Amino acid sequence: MGKTLHDLNADLHSHSTVSDGTLAPAALVRRAAARGVELFALTDHDEVGGLAEAQAAAREVGLALWPGVEISVSFGDQTAHIVGLGIDADNAELVAGLRRVRGGRRVRAQAMADGLAAVGIAGAFEGALKYVGNPELISRTHFARYLVEAGVCSSTNEVFTRYLVPGKPGYVDHGWARLAEAVRWIVGAGGVAVLAHPARYRLTATEQWALFSEFKEAGGAAIEIAVGAHGADEVRRYAQVAREFAFEGSRGSDFHSPEESNTDLGAAPALPYDVVPVWHRFH
Ligand code: AMP
Ligand code: MN
Ligand code: MN
Ligand code: MN
Repeated sequence: MGKTLHDLNADLHSHSTVSDGTLAPAALVRRAAARGVELFALTDHDEVGGLAEAQAAAREVGLALWPGVEISVSFGDQTAHIVGLGIDADNAELVAGLRRVRGGRRVRAQAMADGLAAVGIAGAFEGALKYVGNPELISRTHFARYLVEAGVCSSTNEVFTRYLVPGKPGYVDHGWARLAEAVRWIVGAGGVAVLAHPARYRLTATEQWALFSEFKEAGGAAIEIAVGAHGADEVRRYAQVAREFAFEGSRGSDFHSPEESNTDLGAAPALPYDVVPVWHRFH
């Protein structure tokens, strides 16, 4: 029996030093190939600057690469993430949109550092900057790494829980892209829009339904089902959502770092067989 599309080891969600990962794009691609990934997407936050390096490395090791991005959007008072796959990274509207989304991150980071200073944690802005690979992309992850280094917490997870989520001293609200806007940039750049890690959002059932409906209405075609952040129950739950909304399904590790990530490249759970894999669109 031949290998089906479902059995392909597709990892369609990952990060490099161009956003908040710790491996450079080429090193990430080599690790993916070594871990048995057969179709790979680099999906840095709000940035496509790592794709050229990733593509060159992928060609060298003979790995199929699908150009990607993960766009931060504001949905009500929440942040959600939309992954774009198969995008033309040179598309002018996408490039301009991403630049705008990245724009406020530095000011936000300064405000985060002020919030941390107010509870006695000094120097967090400079500290976080040491971990930043892309000056336009300071993220909460970089603060988390610094607070571990500084001995404030013993893990980045603990930093998020105690300092970097809504209501905590280092959290600063931010106006990201609007959902429909992010989908439009992705689709306009020839890509497919995928709602990232749906279980990660703190939404009521009604709000979640609104998110799926609005995403579908905007032209979203797929949701992540088989991802590192989802347990077996969540894989089943979001496979059911995909059936109800006629979404295709995606799979990915959301890998950031060999030291921090629980799910390595290529190690996400399998996509349930009755969900259409979004990677059937890859050529
Ligand atoms: P930002 O775009 O600056 O708001 O940072 C968001 C990033 O923080 C996400 O992409 C994750 O990499 C990371 N993150 C969010 N929540 C957590 C958490 N609970 N534990 C570890 N990392 C997290
Ligand atoms: Mn991240
Ligand atoms: Mn995300
Ligand atoms: Mn991600």
